[in-house]
Amino acid sequence: RIVYVNGDYLPEEEAKISIFDRGFLMADGVYEVTSVLDGKLLDFGGHAARLERSLTELDMAAPATTEELLEIHRALVEKNGIVDGLVYLQITRGAPGDRDFAFPDPATTPSTIVLFTQNKPGLADSPQARAGIKVISVPDIRWHRRDIKTVQLLYPSMAKMMAKKAGADDAWMVEDGYVTEGSSNNAYIVKGGKIITRQLSNDILHGITRAAVLRFAREAQMEVEERNFTIDEAKEADEALVTSASSFVMPVVEIDGVALGDGTPGRVARRLREIYLDESRKTAI
Ligand code: PLP
Repeated sequence: RIVYVNGDYLPEEEAKISIFDRGFLMADGVYEVTSVLDGKLLDFGGHAARLERSLTELDMAAPATTEELLEIHRALVEKNGIVDGLVYLQITRGAPGDRDFAFPDPATTPSTIVLFTQNKPGLADSPQARAGIKVISVPDIRWHRRDIKTVQLLYPSMAKMMAKKAGADDAWMVEDGYVTEGSSNNAYIVKGGKIITRQLSNDILHGITRAAVLRFAREAQMEVEERNFTIDEAKEADEALVTSASSFVMPVVEIDGVALGDGTPGRVARRLREIYLDESRKTAI
């Protein structure tokens, strides 16, 4: 696989970064994951805009313009022959050459930028989407700037492992009784045909897929409500689903062992998946 590191396209085994990189030492970095279908990038503009916001919030310099990032994404997709898959991008606060809590001077310590592709043939028609996924609830003990897409992913990884151990596929995180989001996706329930998902704030990541799905849902005259919902309300919902760049719209069929509806993907979740895939393919670049 050909990857990108700080201006160079290299075979992955030749790509190297410093052991003093603050991404490695302090999880001082941000990332984006953009999906590729039919060789084209989905929602690239949204991901680039969120990346810029994450960098600004952390007072980190952008090592490339949006146009340059698009060019790198496209080059990697082409060099690796990706038809369906993902492009991962990470920017960290560079390698100051020693370990220190204070941020290094960006003039002498440039940020580190890394991109690589993941090949996922048939990404859009996964068996998981047909069967739906099972989730468990876990407490949300993450920091309170979840709107910034940082590489601090230890707790979400632990949540995913808790789900696996419990025989489920993923975890929904709960704070004060309310669902915040999934370990790596935004969470929704459906009640009486209405799509309910948590309102945007610093408590959740502002999902690019979420924004697109809600827009398409409203355009299709589906009812959308952005509000908090409790995990108890979720267990009594007609349907549930999650969204993310890598899973698009994924039906949830079970929460903490409680089956929703008849335990198969709901009508609204299936429709949203179809609409999202159709519509976002049209604007893929
Ligand atoms: N919430 C969290 C915590 C995530 O990690 C992700 C994706 O990685 C999402 C939501 C979904 O965001 P997006 O639709 O932009 O992929």
